Amino acid sequence: MYPLIFHQPASLDEAVALLRDADDAKIVSGGQSLIPALKQRLAAPSDLVDVTRIDDLRGMAVADRSFSVGAATIYADIATSPMARAHAPSIASLAGVIADPQVRNRGTVGGSLSNNDPSADFPAAALGLGATIETTQRVVPYEQFIDGLFSTTLAADEIVTRIVFPLPLRAAYVKIRHPSSRYAICGAFVSEMKDGWRIAITGAGNEGVFRLTALEAMLDRGGRVPQLDDIEVDTSMMMTDITVDADYRAQLVRVAARRAAVRVLENR
Ligand SMILES: Cc1cc2nc3c(=O)[nH]c(=O)nc-3n(C[C@H](O)[C@H](O)[C@H](O)COP(=O)(O)OP(=O)(O)OC[C@H]3O[C@@H](n4cnc5c(N)ncnc54)[C@H](O)[C@@H]3O)c2cc1C
Repeated sequence: MYPLIFHQPASLDEAVALLRDADDAKIVSGGQSLIPALKQRLAAPSDLVDVTRIDDLRGMAVADRSFSVGAATIYADIATSPMARAHAPSIASLAGVIADPQVRNRGTVGGSLSNNDPSADFPAAALGLGATIETTQRVVPYEQFIDGLFSTTLAADEIVTRIVFPLPLRAAYVKIRHPSSRYAICGAFVSEMKDGWRIAITGAGNEGVFRLTALEAMLDRGGRVPQLDDIEVDTSMMMTDITVDADYRAQLVRVAARRAAVRVLENR
């Protein structure tokens, strides 16, 4: 590490002022992605603005068929919340399969969505449910919030404050994870909404999280269990890395999407 100034503001106004006034400030929330990046010198901000002491950024609520969560809420609180488990079980169970207990007790939803790691889990729920992102500057659909690998449309002095997930009729998340890092090699979030199906795939796309629109259309037409061969996946869109090549990842997408769709259909 190298010298930097660490701030712990108690209000959003104070946090925004710090971000505007410092030479090159960065927001830190759970620190589970940012601190490793600092240690590897992939980022070198002059100041860190910790947003986890700001009350407005914490907590969960259910209202008007939606589940909203403060950006600095940790995964463990969502995974174990009786309210989340009762009203948004697919989100609670997704939070419970992120990483390990240490990461789940520090990592936050706002940090995950702002980091936009192509192998992270929460982007699948955000896209799979059509979430809305609230920030200190605007309210934006999730699809307009993301902007490619590890990139979003956030301004340097803009803080994500709350994420609003519409509640589905039914939904399920299936994750095939790397045995060591526990990140998703492929994760499928399948939801049956009032107005149709949404299927979001994380961990597999070379441009980040994406929707499996062909399978959405098939389920919209009939709602029957898809066979693996019925599920169209564009192999040229798949990531290749040292663990899994594009062809194999495409097959994992079919398997994860089918398993999640089966869970949803069996719960009808
Ligand atoms: C060993 C290990 C295993 C992991 N496995 C998984 C996994 O299986 N699945 C998974 O999804 N993730 C995994 N992660 C990543 C983890 O979920 C991180 O918590 C997450 O990527 C970032 O959340 P954070 O709160 O820690 O954010 P930070 O690291 O604090 O910040 C990440 C980025 O987001 C920005 N940011 C943070 N909060 C806000 C905000 N409110 N508004 C605007 N910008 C903000 C920061 O400036 C920074 O650029 C793993 C991490 C580790 C260390």
